[in-house]
Amino acid sequence: MKIEKEKCTGCHACYSICPKHCIEMQADNDGFLYPKIDRTICINCGRCENICPALNKPAPQKIGQAYACINKNDEVRMQSSSGGVFTLIAEYVINNGGAVFGAAFDENLSVRHIMIESVNDLGKLRGSKYVQSSIGNSYKEAKNLLECGRIVLFSGTPCQISGLLSYLGKEYSNLITQDLICHGVPPASVWHKYLDWLASVYSAAVDQRTAPSFRDKSTGWKSYSLSVSFTDGKKSAKTFSEDLFMRAFLNDLDLRPSCYCCPSKGIQRQSDITLADFWGIENIVPEMFDNKGTSLVIVNSDKGKQLFDTISPQMIIKEVDTQQALIYNPAAYKSSVLSPARERFMYLINEADFEKAIRKSINNSIIKRTLRKIKRIIERVY
Ligand SMILES: Cc1cc2nc3c(=O)[nH]c(=O)nc-3n(C[C@H](O)[C@H](O)[C@H](O)COP(=O)(O)OP(=O)(O)OC[C@H]3O[C@@H](n4cnc5c(N)ncnc54)[C@H](O)[C@@H]3O)c2cc1C
Repeated sequence: MKIEKEKCTGCHACYSICPKHCIEMQADNDGFLYPKIDRTICINCGRCENICPALNKPAPQKIGQAYACINKNDEVRMQSSSGGVFTLIAEYVINNGGAVFGAAFDENLSVRHIMIESVNDLGKLRGSKYVQSSIGNSYKEAKNLLECGRIVLFSGTPCQISGLLSYLGKEYSNLITQDLICHGVPPASVWHKYLDWLASVYSAAVDQRTAPSFRDKSTGWKSYSLSVSFTDGKKSAKTFSEDLFMRAFLNDLDLRPSCYCCPSKGIQRQSDITLADFWGIENIVPEMFDNKGTSLVIVNSDKGKQLFDTISPQMIIKEVDTQQALIYNPAAYKSSVLSPARERFMYLINEADFEKAIRKSINNSIIKRTLRKIKRIIERVY
């Protein structure tokens, strides 16, 4: 395929469309999935390149209307990353005979897209998992359901929604797409290295039957923790500023290369609804800040608006100016900046233990960033 590696988002559109099934998604050395074509089977039909969203930039959409939202069900809100709006959208779809696709942990705590049809399974999709979710055959399954006339809600990162829409290639009135404002995604390999390291620190096996929470709100929404349970009943829960996995993620040490030049940034979205944390809500709508989580919902299409109006009695809502709502959420409009220590970190996690890899990389990157700043100031002065 013509696509440069750093532009491939791993969306699985090419894998899904191939009529000869000759594209496999294979992990590279960093653990990110990329398409690999079996040339002995490939018939050069070109469909993989024609639908690749990175090669064929989609048409820009309208700018959506933003709302601050809180799910009135406090229990669901506390289990959700932000204000718990995803659950309301998903419940509506399921209660109307539909199916919901989203990211869940599998039995090894890897993150994969799955399809659910019962509200009892919603807990599997609830909560952000800060690891790239593998799409697998979800696009194909979604298409089959759409063709049968079922309502489908497909949730995912903006690049996954872009991949789905390219793969489908036509409008479906029974499809609802929901994306997120996305900081970027680390690979499964770093997540598993972290879990192994944690198990060695706690001298206990990670409990694979209890889903970890990347957004444990017991320490507050704004100072959330990453919590992992062990088979001996112990639990690790550190706030995002202390937890080593979160430090790597938020310092941009382990994101997919395409996340540093993300094609989906900006407020013109392809999805019907965009969900995010309403960071800065205490300054914009102070009465909607209680540190339990407030969602920023951006309604991008008429279909999204109809759905939003239907679920609105179950939420506390305040319409806000879209540009203003994004002031505290730079991930909405600009890609994460490639850390000068990324390469070193991705090398070190295979050589050293997780803690050493982080400490060596973060200190190193702070020194490098400071030196670069000093150099820029000197250049400006002279
Ligand atoms: C990798 C990632 C980065 C994010 N970065 C930001 C950010 O920079 N700024 C911001 O404001 N918000 C960000 N979010 C979104 C935010 O964390 C919440 O997911 C969002 O506000 C929805 O919250 P909720 O309370 O409505 O529902 P929740 O129940 O918390 O959200 C569940 C939804 O997230 C989806 N999801 C979870 N993990 C993944 C995954 N790995 N890949 C694809 N979809 C996933 C589920 O399918 C479901 O749609 C990010 C989310 C993810 C997954």
